[in-house]
Amino acid sequence: MPFVQTVRGQVDAGRLGAVDAHEHVFLSSPFLAGEHFDDPDRMRAELDLVARGGIDTVVDLTTVGLGRRPAALAEISERSGVHVVLATGYHRDAHYAADHWVHREDAGVLLDVVLTDLRTGIDDRDWRGPAPRPTAVRAGVVKVGASYQRMTAGERLRIEVGIEAARLTGVGLAAHCEIGTLAAEILDLAEAGGLTADRVALAHMDRNPDPELHGELAGRGAYLLYDTVGRVKYRPDSDLVALIERVLDGGHADRLLLGTDVGRRTMLRSYGGGPGMDVLGRDFLPRLRRRVGDEPVDRITRTNPARFLATKDAS
Ligand SMILES: [Zn+2]
Repeated sequence: MPFVQTVRGQVDAGRLGAVDAHEHVFLSSPFLAGEHFDDPDRMRAELDLVARGGIDTVVDLTTVGLGRRPAALAEISERSGVHVVLATGYHRDAHYAADHWVHREDAGVLLDVVLTDLRTGIDDRDWRGPAPRPTAVRAGVVKVGASYQRMTAGERLRIEVGIEAARLTGVGLAAHCEIGTLAAEILDLAEAGGLTADRVALAHMDRNPDPELHGELAGRGAYLLYDTVGRVKYRPDSDLVALIERVLDGGHADRLLLGTDVGRRTMLRSYGGGPGMDVLGRDFLPRLRRRVGDEPVDRITRTNPARFLATKDAS
């Protein structure tokens, strides 16, 4: 049975249940000043709501240096009963201060940090302190990111490092595509680096809800990660339901993943905001079931994430 690396250890891929494929449980970024969330009690309460909404596993796509707290995360995962798959890898430039080490270290150092997270355990200070405090909590997915419509030299280097780490360890690669751009370019880099498109999930593609483009990307084998559920400032959820229907009609049910991507404290119910990390299970999935039926929804929330997150034999 293939396994998935969670913060509490390896879990059979078939036992993840319903998966929210893009979240953040602890997050602190200079790009989102004043919007950080790092309170274990509040985040435990948020995960309790997620569980009540029928979600069994969340994928926490927080990257190196953005406030990951592996030991606390494992504890609240245990107490809430929600499995958490935590990321490693590097985000786009905007999330790191100008003097951050990710901008100056070479590929060897950058890769070493990511491989340590995947194979040994994540530093409890998230690589921000003068010396690491190793934990036994391992990352289970690699995240990378590029800017809107362009990839800086540093971003390209860090994306290539992420691809190499995913290839070496067999975990999946989630790519932040800012407003849904550069997806094809990131897939090209993955394939050039020996990582097949079916090991790549393209995040935020619903910010560019173009069914023809999505059909092409899914046709190459990549996963389309729609992760702005409940984000009414972008568009109504009815548009997202319609987009999913179009992609299902195109024969790509096996390539869809869903998430909420709460990345600000004002989006969390435990901090008094909304729509809450539970919006996917609470509101959106029941609505989607009414429109498309149970089978596609189970495929999108259970079968597809289990396949994407299952660690492959390293190539
Ligand atoms: Zn995110």
